Amino acid sequence: MNTIVVASGNRGKLREIAQIFRGYTILSMQEAGFSGDIEEDGATFAENALIKARAVSRALHCTALADDSGLCVEALGGAPGVYSARFCGRHGDDAANNALLLKKMEDVPDGRRAAYFASCVALCTADGRELTADGRTYGRILRAPEGEGGFGYDPLFYSDELGKSFGAATAEEKNAVSHRGKALAALAEKLAGVRL
Ligand code: IMP
Repeated sequence: MNTIVVASGNRGKLREIAQIFRGYTILSMQEAGFSGDIEEDGATFAENALIKARAVSRALHCTALADDSGLCVEALGGAPGVYSARFCGRHGDDAANNALLLKKMEDVPDGRRAAYFASCVALCTADGRELTADGRTYGRILRAPEGEGGFGYDPLFYSDELGKSFGAATAEEKNAVSHRGKALAALAEKLAGVRL
């Protein structure tokens, strides 16, 4: 009864979710038997998270959880935002995405490099109930990568809360302040006492 299927195959995300949702059995969508493709064509993080969670929940008649996240840079009007994974035109090319971000930020002065990571998590139950929660973490865009850890834009993001880049932080340090960690904790709070 207390099983949550996560609409992702990413082991790191699954581990982070399992640490926060301790009273639940957490399965990846592959482990639960979902093999379809989901088109993430929403205009917001919340829409995309709901698209993913609904698709898995409806296909498997289960409680499903999904997250959608990205980097929002003030000087770029909030870009890359929902296009973070494909900023450079190809999906998931971190090196090219980071190179493009550095290029676009080349002439932006130090005082105008504010940015935040945003995450929305959505949970859909088998009987059609839906819950969402948001999390953000603030910082600024560096002029060159710092650190070898993390993924995506981590080496270019200086975290105000940690006082160093996400690329230079350990996984534990990052998870403690991350957008996804905050969104998941807020969702876990909303879920307390709700029967799945
Ligand atoms: P998704 O929500 O996992 O699909 O992530 C979308 C994209 O946002 C990723 O491909 C990364 O480019 C970026 N992103 C989201 N969260 C993070 C993070 O914690 N660190 C670095 N990049 C991130």
